[in-house]
Amino acid sequence: MTNKVHNFAAGPGILPAEVLKQASEACINFDNLNLSLLEISHRSKNFEAVMDESRALVKELLGVGDGWQVLFLGGGASMQFAMVPMNLLRTDGTAAYVSTGVWANKAIKEAKMIGNTKVIATSEDKNYAYLPKGYEIPTDVDYLHVTSNNTIFGTQMKSFPKTSVPLVCDMSSDIFSKPVDGNQFSLIYAGAQKNMGPAGSTMVAMREDALGKTGRKILSMLDYQVHIKGGSMYNTPPVFPIYVCLLTLRWLKQNGGLQWIEKVNNEKAAMMYGEIDRNSLFAGTVIAKADRSNMNACFVMTKPELEPEFDKMWKEANISGIRGHRDVGGYRASMYNALPLSSVQALVEVMQAFEKKFA
Ligand SMILES: *Cc1c(COP(=O)(O)O)cnc(C)c1O
Repeated sequence: MTNKVHNFAAGPGILPAEVLKQASEACINFDNLNLSLLEISHRSKNFEAVMDESRALVKELLGVGDGWQVLFLGGGASMQFAMVPMNLLRTDGTAAYVSTGVWANKAIKEAKMIGNTKVIATSEDKNYAYLPKGYEIPTDVDYLHVTSNNTIFGTQMKSFPKTSVPLVCDMSSDIFSKPVDGNQFSLIYAGAQKNMGPAGSTMVAMREDALGKTGRKILSMLDYQVHIKGGSMYNTPPVFPIYVCLLTLRWLKQNGGLQWIEKVNNEKAAMMYGEIDRNSLFAGTVIAKADRSNMNACFVMTKPELEPEFDKMWKEANISGIRGHRDVGGYRASMYNALPLSSVQALVEVMQAFEKKFA
C-alpha cells in the first residue's frame, strides 16, 4: 500500500500507510474490545499496555536504561520550551542556548522569562544558513540547549558537543531518523508530528537525577516529577496520538530499526541534494554541505520568475508540500522516515523535466 500523493509536508508530516490503516481500525474496534480506542479509559489495562510499550520502545531506540524516564505530554514541543527551564534551571543558575533558527529562538525566549539565559553561539548573521561551530561552552551553566534539526532552515547537527554540562536537545524534526546515543544527553524532547506520530503528543525523555534541583515551585502540570510519578498519566494523556506513535515506533522496529532508517534517509538525501546541486535551475540554501539536513532539504530557484511554472509541474506529478516556510520562501522537501525513496525519485524527475524545458 503506497500513498498516491508524494507527501513532502514539513509537519505534521507523512506517516506510514500501514500505521494509518491500523490507527483507523483502532478508532472502531481497539484490541478486539468492540470499543473504540477513543472511548475507553486511559486507566484500562489495554491502554496502560500502550503507554508502557511506547515508553519502553523510546528507551530502547535511544539506548538508555535505568535512571531514564519517558513521558508523553500535551502542549507540543513549544510547551517544552518553557518546561525545560522551569525544571532544570536553578533560580540562581544560568542556562546556555545555541541559536540556530526560529525554534531555537522560541526556546530562548521562554527560558529568558524563567531565569538567567545566555546565548553562547548564533548563526543569525547568515539567516541561520549554517550551524555555529567551535564555540566555547561555559562549565558553570545548568544545561546547554541545542536543536538537532532546524526544520525551517534545513540544517542538522551531525554530532553533538562533547561537554561536562548537561545537554538538552530539541529533536522534534529528526528524532529516530538515525541511531543517536541518548546517553550523551540529560533531556531530549520531540513534538511527535514531524517524525514519530501525529500532532498532539510530545515525547520527553530525561535522566531522573537531573530533576528536583531548581529551588523553584513548579505548577503540577508543568512539573516533570509529577508526570513521572503519575506514569505519564497524571491527567488524561493524549491517548490517540500516543497510540499512533506506538504504531510508528513498531513499524520502525519491525523494518530494521534505526540502522535501517538511517540508510534509507541517507539514500533519499543523497538523491535529493544530488539533483539540487546538478540542476542549473536550483540551488541549495545551506552554506556548508556538511550542515545540510537529511530531513528538510531547502532550495531556491536560480530564476525565481519561473516558480509558477515549476509549481504547476510538481502539482501535476501528485507532489505535495514542497513550498518553503513562509519566513524563508523557496522550496523545502521534507523527507521524514515514512517518505519512500520513490517519492524523492518522482520529485527529482520533475526537476529534471523542468530543466529540460526551461534551462
Ligand atoms: C515543529 C517544531 C517545533 C514546534 O513544535 P510544536 O509541537 O508545534 O510546538 C519545535 N521545534 C522544532 C525543531 C520543530 O521542528
